[in-house]
Amino acid sequence: MTILGILIAIAVPVIAQVIEQSEHESCDISVNEVEQHYHHFLMLEGLDHTDTLFEFFLSEHIDDNPNDHMFIYEEGHVRCAIHQPSNTGEEETDPVPWL
Ligand SMILES: [Zn+2]
Repeated sequence: MTILGILIAIAVPVIAQVIEQSEHESCDISVNEVEQHYHHFLMLEGLDHTDTLFEFFLSEHIDDNPNDHMFIYEEGHVRCAIHQPSNTGEEETDPVPWL
C-alpha cells in the first residue's frame, strides 16, 4: 500500500505536467490557426483590425474551443490570455467568458 502511495505521489505531478504541457502545445497551434485565419479574413474582406471585428470573427468562424482558450488580439498577433500570459506582466483580471 505504501509503495502504491509513493507511485501515485510520483505519477500524479508528472501526469499533471504532461497534461499542462500538451494544453500549452495545443494552445500554440490553435492560436497560430486563429491568427492565420483572421489575417486571411481581414485581407479577403479588405478590413483593418478592430476589437469588435475580432470578436465577430471568433464568434462566426471559430466555433471549436475545446480547451477554453481566450483569444485576444494584440499588436498584430493573436494570443491566448489563459495559456499564454502577457509579457507585460499585465493580468487578465476580468476575462470575458467564451460565447
Ligand atoms: Zn489557450
